[in-house]
Order: sequence, then C-alpha cells, then structure tokens
Amino acid sequence: MTASMSGQLFQRLTLIGLGLEGSSIAWAAKRGGLVGEITGHARTAATREKAMELGFCDRVWPTAAEAAEGADLVILCVPVGASGPVAAEIGPVLKPGAIVSDVGSVKASLIADVAPHIPEGVHFVPAHPIAGTEHSGPESGFAELFDDRWCVLTPLPGGDPEAVARLRAFWEGLGARIDQMDAVHHDLVLAVTSHVPHAIAYTMVGVADHLRRVTDSEVIQFSAAGFRDFTRIAASDPVMWRDVFLSNREATLDILGRFTEELFVLQRAIRMGDGDYLRDYFTHTREIRRGIIEAGQDTAAPDFGRRSTDAGKAGE
Ligand code: NAP
Repeated sequence: MTASMSGQLFQRLTLIGLGLEGSSIAWAAKRGGLVGEITGHARTAATREKAMELGFCDRVWPTAAEAAEGADLVILCVPVGASGPVAAEIGPVLKPGAIVSDVGSVKASLIADVAPHIPEGVHFVPAHPIAGTEHSGPESGFAELFDDRWCVLTPLPGGDPEAVARLRAFWEGLGARIDQMDAVHHDLVLAVTSHVPHAIAYTMVGVADHLRRVTDSEVIQFSAAGFRDFTRIAASDPVMWRDVFLSNREATLDILGRFTEELFVLQRAIRMGDGDYLRDYFTHTREIRRGIIEAGQDTAAPDFGRRSTDAGKAGE
C-alpha cells in the first residue's frame, strides 16, 4: 500500500472544516506519515475541542486565518457554499509557495468563488475525493476512507505542474487513485454518478413519507426490498447537499431532464405491457453494475456485502 511508503510531503497541513472529510484526511495523513503537523479550524468550539480530544489535530484555531497562517498545504473541507468566504478570509495570510486545495463535490462554481482570493505565488489546486459516507462531523472520519477510491484533481489552466504533482503525491499517500479532468466535465460526470442519484433518493424517501396508504411501520419493516438503500443516501448531510444542488444547477437539471424522459418511456412500457423492452433495459443496466464491481468500486457480495455491524463506505 502506497500510504506507508510515502513519507513526509508537507511540514504543516491545515484543515479548514473538521467533519467527515477533514478528519479522514487527518487520520490518513497521520497513518502515512505525510505531514509534520496538522492544524485546523472549524466554526464551532465543540468541533474544535472534539478534534483535539480525538487527537487528529495538533492545534486548532478559532479563525480560519489563524489556522492557515504559515501552512504549506491548506485544504478547505467545508460545504461548497462556505468555500468562497473562507478563501477571502485566509487569502491575505497565505504563505508564498503554499498549496491551497479543497474537497468540494462541485468544482466549477467553487473555483469561481475561491480562485480570486488566492494571492500570486500561492498555488490553488482543486480536488474532489469520491469517497464519503452518510455520516458527518469530527467523529465520523477514519483513515481508510480514501483507500482505493478515486480523487479527481481539476487543476486550473496555466497552474503550476509542480504543485499539481505534489498534491497528487499527497492523495496517493492517503490511499487514493488519482484522475484529472476539467472542472466543467467533472461537474457533469458527478451529476450523473452522484448528484442526480441523491436527488432521486431524496424524492423516493419523500414519496414513501407522503403515501398514506402504506403505514410507516410497513415501510420500515420491508425496507430491505430496496427502499433501505435509498434511505441511506437520503440521510446525507442536508447543508452539504443543498450546496451541491445550488452550485451544480446546470448539470443537475440537464441530467434530471434526461432522467425524467427515460422514466416516462419506462412508465409507458409498463402501461403497455412491453415485457421485451423491460427485460432488454434491465439486462443492459445489470451490465453496468457488473462493470462497477469489476472496477473494484463495490462488492458482488449479497446485500452489498452488508454485515449487521457494517457502517458502510459509500461513493459520496
Ligand atoms: P461535515 O462532516 O458536515 O463537516 C463540515 C465541517 O465544516 C465542519 O467541521 C463544520 O464546522 C465546518 N464548517 C461549516 N461551515 C463552515 C464555515 N462557514 N466556516 C468554517 N467551518 C465551517 O461535512 P463533510 O462531509 O466533511 O463535507 C465537507 C466537504 O466535503 C463538502 O464540500 C462536501 O461537498 C465535500 N465532500 C463530501 C463528501 C461526503 O460524502 N460527505 C464526499 C466528498 C466530498 P462545525 O462542525 O463547527 O459546524
């Protein structure tokens, strides 16, 4: 495994935001010995105290600027909508030669919000680890979150290749596999693979909630038939997902439009009793599932490999 072989890549890592992503980066960086020291900032004193108590930060600060001052690598791990204001606060104190990155689930709007605040001589290299769970907060992180998961870098045109290479080495040290693409393309890909699936899960759970002919206890009792997997996704952090939809509006609406068209075709096939269409459609979708398993991004074990104690590790 790459992490244990990486060695120290940065002297001081600063994490702005100490929830699931921030704490997981800290634990994985400690595991790999990738940084000399970890400083952090979160909005509330309770989160900052928890980070110190759990031991994934060496020092925490009540403001983002204090935490980021003197850092060699600063990673914004806050909701997408909070990234611009945080960048405005830390911009003036960033050390020349430092790298600023993030983990935001949407890239184009985040870059537009953050880039103007990054001073000359500091390198901004946006990133998105495709790894998360439905849990949030400083207790939810763990060192293995990024193992064998993809982290997508979306470097700015004309950005410093050396800084990109250093961030790539850092993410490899955290255990991730790296891909690189343009920010707009990233947002379209993620609309298909993550954002619209979340919208559908939120909607399906809402439908069950509104359907008075099926009692709540029946929904819960028989949830293993499929509904349970929607509820896991629909339990994801409300602030994070509000920001994802508001900041990836165009691509999400494009894919939702296509989804609605597809759904109407399926609805018509069911109404018309077109069994051939349904079988062919489901045969094709089964192939896609096989492809995901062959790519090592999920397990073929029955019930998604669930054990009764499994917390599970999801795409996002
Ligand atoms: P989280 O567990 O809810 O943690 C968010 C952290 O940000 C908390 O420490 C919170 O502080 C802090 N915060 C929020 N607003 C802030 C502000 N205005 N100023 C300073 N700190 C602020 O969230 P997360 O799951 O780690 O998500 C963080 C980022 O990762 C988001 O941009 C999300 O798009 C991205 N991401 C998430 C996933 C996932 O599955 N969760 C996967 C990939 C990428 P307090 O605790 O003090 O409120």
